[in-house]
This record gives sequence, structure tokens and C-alpha cells, in this order.
Amino acid sequence: MIMNKLSDKFGRHIEYLRLSVTDRCDLRCTYCMPKGFNDFEDADNLLSFDEIERVIKAFTEMGTKRIRLTGGEPLVRKGIDELAHRLAALPGLEDLSLSTNATRMSKYATDLKAAGIQRLNVSLDTLDADKFKQLTSGKLSKVIDGLMAAKEAGFKPIKINMVVMKGVNDMDVEDMLNFCIEHGFTLRFIETMPLGDTGRNAQDQYIDLKIIKQRLAEKFDLIPGVMPGGGPARYMNVADTDINIGFITPISQHFCDTCNRVRLSADGTIYTCLGQEHHLALRPLLRAGCTDEELKEAIQTAVDLKPEKHEFNEKPEKLVRFMSMTGG
Ligand code: SAM
Ligand code: SF4
Repeated sequence: MIMNKLSDKFGRHIEYLRLSVTDRCDLRCTYCMPKGFNDFEDADNLLSFDEIERVIKAFTEMGTKRIRLTGGEPLVRKGIDELAHRLAALPGLEDLSLSTNATRMSKYATDLKAAGIQRLNVSLDTLDADKFKQLTSGKLSKVIDGLMAAKEAGFKPIKINMVVMKGVNDMDVEDMLNFCIEHGFTLRFIETMPLGDTGRNAQDQYIDLKIIKQRLAEKFDLIPGVMPGGGPARYMNVADTDINIGFITPISQHFCDTCNRVRLSADGTIYTCLGQEHHLALRPLLRAGCTDEELKEAIQTAVDLKPEKHEFNEKPEKLVRFMSMTGG
């Protein structure tokens, strides 16, 4: 039976969708995409904007209130501002946000804000230009310019996502926090996950975020328990500032029992867990001319496949997809 509220077998309400609009990216972060990787989906296999809008409309009619555009790098998909505009207009959608590496944000910030995106997550792992180059094969100045353009355009909040790697950038967390305090950004630390070969190779750089928290607490006065949000981060406030820092700990302290999301990849496949294979392809149904009822039935069937938890610790070898393929 199709419900107008999506729930999985474990009673978790699914009200959040991460929508990947492309598997392509202009960076090659070491833990995410292999250097030189170029084996992307054919353009024909990506959902068109009409198809995306149709699927998202079905999700919102089934109770999804929050959508995050992601990828790959969502700003490399042509017309992303038009898509944002179309999705923001859907009844029932309360929150449209974007995850980006910000390299192209200078160009898009004003249009994306006008299109209806309020909140932004920006990946940034270091403020050291040489290290940034080594980690991403890209140019730090483009990201900083993009971030400043986003700030100027009025996105709020802007959250910086930093994947912390032992011996690589764990020594940069204080600089990153001072930068975020200066600019009014939220800073979130993320543990590296064994997604694909790239993520697995990064596991020898894995560091438990408890260590980072302890280290920061020696230098900053941190107040626990603020900004609950609807996601996996546990937040603390930096005393005497309005800056919050979040800890996302999929490895050391998983949060699967409160997981409220599924992912739609750029080729139209619903992935129900970042760390498991359970999925359902919508594109064949859409292109075979399914009805709206059939589409909603398929969405509920996909959600029914959602497993109880990931197995990053028990079976780190399990997942062949890397993050940019699923939609981070
Ligand atoms: N390109 C955009 C960006 O970088 O923000 C959006 C997509 S990216 C795949 C989304 C997030 O996934 C980023 O914050 C990135 O740091 C994170 N990520 C990718 N691979 C990861 C891994 N193996 N472990 C932890 N986080 C990862
Ligand atoms: Fe691209 Fe984001 Fe993956 Fe980095 S984390 S390679 S920016 S998709």
C-alpha cells in the first residue's frame, strides 16, 4: 500500500533525500575519486530535469520535506540553477540545500540563492594551498573565492565539511576553526569511510574524532548540545561566538538508528544506505511510461529495502561504489 508518509521496516521516517545530479566532478579528492578517473555515466543515462522533477514531486507527496542537491559536483551539471528553481517551487518541500566543493560558486552563488537554495555545505579539508592541491588536484583560491561569493550572496548557514585524516590534515583543525570563526561558518568534521578503493585506501589515515574533540577542547571553550538539526552531526558551540562545530562519526559512533534519508543517484537509482548495496532503479520505470501510482509504489518498495545499519567496521571491504557515485 502506498502511504503518504514514507517509513522503513524499522519505523524510521524517511523525510530527507539526497539528490545527485551528476557523478562528474572537477576535483579528485583522494578519499573519494581515483586520480585520473574518467569512467562517468553516459549523458543519456542521467535523469533529465523533467524526470528529476517528477520523481521529487512523488517524494514530496509521500512526505519528503528536505532535499539536498549533491553529486559528484552538482555545479558541473549545466542548468543546475534552473533545476533548483523548479524543485524549490514544489509544494511540500520545506528545505532545499546544496553540497558543493565551491570551485564554481563565484559564478553561481547569486543565481542559486535566487533559485531558492538557502543552506550550503562546502567541502574543504585544509587552508594550505599545496596540501589542497595534493589532496584534490585543484586550486584552493577558487574554493575560497567561491566561499566568499556564497557568504556575500547570503546563504545561511554555510557549513564547512572537513574530512579529517591522521598525519594529513589533522594538524589543520585549529586553523580551520579560526577561519570559520572569522567568517561565521559552521565547521563539521567527518570520519573517513571505506567507500570504494579510494575510501578504503584512506582508512590507514582514519582518526577517531574523539581525539580531535579533546584536542580542540584544550584550546577552545566548547559547550555541548546545541543545534540538533535533522542529521547525523553532534554539535558543540564555541563559547562567546555563534560558531558551532559538528562531529560526524559514522565509524566510531554510528547513527543508523536515527537515519532519515535515502539517496537518488544521477542515473535514477535509489540507494537506501551509503554503506550497503540495497537499491532500486527508477529510470527503467520512468522511461517505460509508469504511472504516478507505480512510481510511488516503487519508491515505497525501495524504502522497504533500507537495511538496519551499515557495516563499515565489520565489512570494510564490502562497498565497491565510491561516494561520488552514490551522491554524497
Ligand atoms: N562534490 C561535493 C562536495 O565535495 O561537497 C558533493 C559530493 S561529495 C561526494 C559529499 C561529501 O562526501 C563531501 O563532504 C566529501 O568530503 C565526502 N566524502 C567523499 N568520500 C568520502 C569518504 N570516503 N569518507 C568520508 N567522506 C567522504
Ligand atoms: Fe568531487 Fe566532492 Fe568527491 Fe571531492 S568529495 S572528488 S569534490 S565529489
